[in-house]
Amino acid sequence: MSDLLIVTGASAGIGAATARMAGFNGWSRVVVHYGSDKTGAEETAAMVESMGAQAYLFQADVSKPKAIEKMFAKIAELKPGRIGLVNNAGVVSPTGTFADRTPELVKKVFEINVFGAFEVARQCLLLMRDWEKGGAMVNISSAAARLGSANMYVDYAATKGAIETMTLGLAEELAAEGIRVNAIRPGLIETAIHAKGGAPDRLDKIGTTPPMGRPGTAEECAEAILWLLSERASYVTRTILDVTGGR
Ligand code: NAP
Repeated sequence: MSDLLIVTGASAGIGAATARMAGFNGWSRVVVHYGSDKTGAEETAAMVESMGAQAYLFQADVSKPKAIEKMFAKIAELKPGRIGLVNNAGVVSPTGTFADRTPELVKKVFEINVFGAFEVARQCLLLMRDWEKGGAMVNISSAAARLGSANMYVDYAATKGAIETMTLGLAEELAAEGIRVNAIRPGLIETAIHAKGGAPDRLDKIGTTPPMGRPGTAEECAEAILWLLSERASYVTRTILDVTGGR
């Protein structure tokens, strides 16, 4: 039995980069979770194993609470020991004004980004308690939480506001149990999420607007996540770290 890192949404983008780089950061076992992109998850798992760590593939639609519960029941069979969680799976909404935010769109993004992330954190907490080894969680927010994303996707921004509030409350609840809870707030990051949300040219249009003059990479987010999970951040909890190039 050794430590276990669980990364949701590890088939692409920030989650995939975090899983790939976990081996360099002392994680010997990595859960590579995905929703629908099995090929992407298999590629991530192969990279994890090429770094000398053991990878475990798990599929679950995070908008389905029962699917999350079933996945964590299977993860328990891995005898996890100390657990790290990267609560990362998420989507953006289609670009538009507030008037375009129909109840269906708002429901869909909240089901994945908020209800999914809450249930992932809750199931992980129950597992951490079973193993009594403590652990650390990093939730993935967005600069959108403090910017509001006017004329883009206010609903998405609000989901990340909810993630930040959850991070603050959960961190305080769990501090005495030796479980640290933090979040990062990525800015404009080069991943496929923009294209999946219907705005493939988003970074071409605004990628140079941060003070640093460029978008960030998934690997730059992964560095921050892996630091927050590590013992190097042993006195850091209830913190939300901007990874935004100064935006
Ligand atoms: P990405 O490349 O599109 O990856 C998203 C991941 O989430 C994929 O692995 C995807 O899995 C998974 N996912 C989405 N819906 C899911 C569902 N219903 N069930 C299970 N898994 C699901 O996006 P990314 O840019 O890396 O984003 C990762 C996180 O960072 C998200 O929470 C996002 O909001 C946040 N973020 C990103 C940026 C940015 O500029 N890229 C900025 C701020 C915050 P499948 O494809 O296998 O379903």
